[in-house]
Amino acid sequence: MTPNTDRNQLLFDRARQLIPGGVNSPVRAFRAVGGTPRFVQRAHGAYFWDANGTRHIDYIGSWGPMIVGHGHPAVVEAVQKAVLEGFSFGAPTEREVELAEEIISLVPSMQMVRLVSSGTEAAMSAIRLARGATGRSKIIKFEGCYHGHADALLVKAGSGLATFGNPTSAGVPPEVVQHTLVLEYNNLQQLEEAFALHGSQLACLMIEPIAGNMNFVRAGVPFMQRCRELCTQHGALLVFDEVMTGFRVGLGSAQGVYAKAIPGFAPDISVLGKVIGGGMPLAAFGGPRAIMEQLAPLGPVYQAGTLSGNPVATACGLATLREIRKPGFFGALSASTCSLVEGLAAAAKAEGVPFSADCEGGMFGFFLLDTLPQNYGQVMKTEGAKFNLLFHGLLDRGIYIAPALYEAGFVSSAHSAGDIAQTIAAAREVFRLLQNK
Ligand SMILES: *Cc1c(COP(=O)(O)O)cnc(C)c1O
Repeated sequence: MTPNTDRNQLLFDRARQLIPGGVNSPVRAFRAVGGTPRFVQRAHGAYFWDANGTRHIDYIGSWGPMIVGHGHPAVVEAVQKAVLEGFSFGAPTEREVELAEEIISLVPSMQMVRLVSSGTEAAMSAIRLARGATGRSKIIKFEGCYHGHADALLVKAGSGLATFGNPTSAGVPPEVVQHTLVLEYNNLQQLEEAFALHGSQLACLMIEPIAGNMNFVRAGVPFMQRCRELCTQHGALLVFDEVMTGFRVGLGSAQGVYAKAIPGFAPDISVLGKVIGGGMPLAAFGGPRAIMEQLAPLGPVYQAGTLSGNPVATACGLATLREIRKPGFFGALSASTCSLVEGLAAAAKAEGVPFSADCEGGMFGFFLLDTLPQNYGQVMKTEGAKFNLLFHGLLDRGIYIAPALYEAGFVSSAHSAGDIAQTIAAAREVFRLLQNK
């Protein structure tokens, strides 16, 4: 027998002895698509090289943060400088103030912000804040939206709107999710009924405005407008989970996209992550002063973190935000993302493969379905086997997309027209293979 020289496989075998499933976050394990996860050796610009030294065009970009590409010189310089000044102090720094100013200047609905270390932590804290600020317990979330892995958010719909959710993870007691109501995304009738039944007890409605954890599904404008009206009318807070969409779909984030369609539109609390750390562990939540001042040390809602506002992470995030706010950045990124999505659609059409796609800023999604899905149930109508063939066909051709059909894709400013053309050409070859199946 010849010895195995596949370093990805060798590393995966070693990892599985030591780390559950060989990974530190489940989607990395390729369980949905099968095969061996690629262990990343290094990355630069739009590419990463795996443990075998094979180059891939990267459409995950750490699930969104790498919006200026890997190893952007200005970001690397800022991080190197910060490292020399110290890793962590457990005391405030000027850079936290600068980052807060930067975020608040870009997102008008936020007057104050609190920095934390992960999206999970930010979403969990936003819910505690909403409950503390309203004195109410019940919350609404939507099927297919992911808000991190806090207990109260790992929940699926119960049977009917009168009953609350059931845990989707072992280890979450039913009592912990008994206040979480799960509704279908984009379903106006359920939304109306839920507020009619529970409106006076609702602390908040939490939503991914453009959902990136069921591939890419937008909340319709009338639906979003109704979410806003019902929250206001019933005294519940509208919480936008923009961990993925924040500074990714546009400089004003998804709320900026909705504010263009709905005059005066703003959420009450926003949750940010991913891009604001530029690849370092950093997230945030914020909103109007009156709500944010409910947080400790000013108010009764407790929240804290040893590494919150970490000086290296804030340096990385600040340098990233300063790149993306340069004039023309999002115009060019959007054009690039659109050219990818349009090219893929044309290739699928030419090969007779059912296909639909959407994008905003540097985020996109595509489906092996004739029409764009509006909710999680429709997303999951995609034939899994077909998606897996597409995934592996692209991977074999050096194109790395998310290893699951319910994840979004990400383009960075480092992706060139040549990278996009190469991706479309590879996709066309794979679409042809799919058609001949
Ligand atoms: C990634 C993500 C989270 C969780 O963030 P982590 O940093 O992985 O904890 C929460 N909400 C949304 C919308 C996300 O995309």
